Amino acid sequence: MKSFVIIAKKNEKSNRIKQEVKEKLLKHGWKYNKQFPELIICIGGDGTLLYAVHKYLSLIDQVKFVAIHTGTLGFFTDYTDDEVAICIDDILYKEPCIVSSPLLKIDIYGDTHKTKYALNEMRIENIKKTQILDVTIDDEYFETCRGSGICLSTQAGSTAYNRSLNGAVIDSGLSLMQLAEITGIQHSKHRSLRNPYILHNERKVMFYSSNFHSAFLCYDHLTISLKDAEKVQCEIADKCVKFARYREYSYLSRLKNLY
Ligand code: NAP
Repeated sequence: MKSFVIIAKKNEKSNRIKQEVKEKLLKHGWKYNKQFPELIICIGGDGTLLYAVHKYLSLIDQVKFVAIHTGTLGFFTDYTDDEVAICIDDILYKEPCIVSSPLLKIDIYGDTHKTKYALNEMRIENIKKTQILDVTIDDEYFETCRGSGICLSTQAGSTAYNRSLNGAVIDSGLSLMQLAEITGIQHSKHRSLRNPYILHNERKVMFYSSNFHSAFLCYDHLTISLKDAEKVQCEIADKCVKFARYREYSYLSRLKNLY
């Protein structure tokens, strides 16, 4: 790999590291190419990586990501800010192992058809009104949820919003989806599964509602209104985020950093 771009969080520390990495790589003959980079170097946190993934979604099949965390160690970041020199040496002199993390494909049907992608999760959220959602899995009716919404996460997203919903953390390397309600209402006239449901990666999950009016679709750090939507379909995409891993950083180490 010889062409790169750097996406840095907007703060002084990240910007300083960006300049250092950029200068060193340019000095060694690498080309800074914002339009068609081969390697995307993220400096900041897991949130910065999500931002970079969406910025370069149209090139996702061709690009690789490596990230430096300017806080603690993250799930998508392999280096801390006191390991910048190691990271630069690894990029310059080592051959990375490529680890892929599948994206979630989200199709929104209504007046128009839109397709979105998420690395962590998609959520249908309604903070104004109780959101009623019929859920089908592979075209079979599963349940009706009433509450603030629903979250469908990937393995990578299992430690993000899903974890705040008491969803299970899913081990690295497993490709599956996890469905969890957001503050679901349970009473004598209405019940839903309540527990998070871990689904096979070939499942297709559909969410229907006769009223999405004040609902939003949140996918990773992004949000769109669902006011004109009738149904939202989700499945594991054939697109992956490819991480360039130059060294072993165990999933357990990342996990133990979380709490
Ligand atoms: P953000 O500020 O970019 O991220 C919120 C927090 O989630 C940050 O601490 C971020 O870590 C962490 N994070 C992101 N992806 C993660 C992952 N896969 N595993 C563990 N932690 C992760 O917030 P945003 O722009 O609103 O949304 C980005 C993501 O944050 C969403 O996809 C969602 O999963 C998560 N989020 C979680 C909650 C919650 O748990 N209640 C609320 C809002 C958003 P860094 O500090 O390393 O960036």
